[in-house]
Amino acid sequence: MDRIYNFAAGPATLPLEVLKEVQKEFLNYNKTGVSILELSHRSQAFSNLIKEIEQDLRDLMHIPSNYKVMFAQGGATTQFAAIAMNLMKNKKADYIVTGIFSKNAAEEAKIFGDVKIVADGSSSQFRKIPDCSNLPIRDDADYVYYCDNNTVYGTKFKAIPNSKGKPLVVDQSSCFLSEPIDVSKFGVVYAGIQKNAGPAGLAIVIVREDLIREKLSFPTPTMLNWKIQSDKESLYNTPNSFAIYFVGKTLKWIKKQGGIEAIQKKNIEKAKLLYDYLDNSKYVKVADVNSRSMMNVTFNCGNEELDKKFIEEASKQGISFIKGHRAVGGMRASIYNAMSKEGVVTLIEFMKKFEKENL
Ligand SMILES: *Cc1c(COP(=O)(O)O)cnc(C)c1O
Repeated sequence: MDRIYNFAAGPATLPLEVLKEVQKEFLNYNKTGVSILELSHRSQAFSNLIKEIEQDLRDLMHIPSNYKVMFAQGGATTQFAAIAMNLMKNKKADYIVTGIFSKNAAEEAKIFGDVKIVADGSSSQFRKIPDCSNLPIRDDADYVYYCDNNTVYGTKFKAIPNSKGKPLVVDQSSCFLSEPIDVSKFGVVYAGIQKNAGPAGLAIVIVREDLIREKLSFPTPTMLNWKIQSDKESLYNTPNSFAIYFVGKTLKWIKKQGGIEAIQKKNIEKAKLLYDYLDNSKYVKVADVNSRSMMNVTFNCGNEELDKKFIEEASKQGISFIKGHRAVGGMRASIYNAMSKEGVVTLIEFMKKFEKENL
């Protein structure tokens, strides 16, 4: 089979075992005689499936029982508005901006209320996560928002920001299921799943029950209303059933490997291999050493000409989609859960050769 090593940031590489299993049962899901694509979301089979998936997610992430789980359409970005509409009571929210996605989330929230940027990484071109241990959080802020792993810059929070008792909302899109987290420390944990768990278009939204309110401060579209969506168990309308099914398969794959703790071990090992090599190489590292992401590794050759050559030659060796985001340039190796150690080793071998010949 001529599959390449896919270092794309998202949609991204998915576990081959899962893809094969999906392919195998594509025409006949679980003896229903129909494809998962053809299966009614009101059928018993789908109802059983979505319940099982939620339970698997709860088991893997140790989600406390006072949290609701929603499978929301429209990816992570749709939640930028939903978060503001559902959580703003005083219409004030404090945002930590550490990259493009948190900036976009803050901009979206400004449509609805008074947004204060309480920490801003732009002075370091987002190479560094600012100190968030003592932020100027407002007493009447409805929530504090941040993005855990900055996909574009390859940075990651090493500690949970101190939200001074306000509900903390975290975008986990590009580090979802990559390491254990303590859900009880958050008001909302959410993620678009196309980085680490499945196809694009679906977000998983985990919300502490007391933050789900009946009366909202804005006229809120039904599809963004967490009360309605959670009461209807994500089945108010036809859900993104294929993406939900796919995530279910990914969760079983994680379970089989020993859970998120075991996955984290592998992720640490892969990232260490790559960063150890980078640190002893002539490549330019983008993210500050203390802010490094385990999922997205950003670097460049020091000039654009060579970056271009790197990307071209890498692609000929089956190392693909490694081009950095246009805001950063250079290269970005996304090494999500499904990227094998073998893939990372292949990349390092290529980088060594390229370094010797060009840097
Ligand atoms: C990709 C990404 C998003 C946007 O996800 P969509 O599903 O395209 O809306 C948001 N936040 C982070 C951290 C991401 O990596």
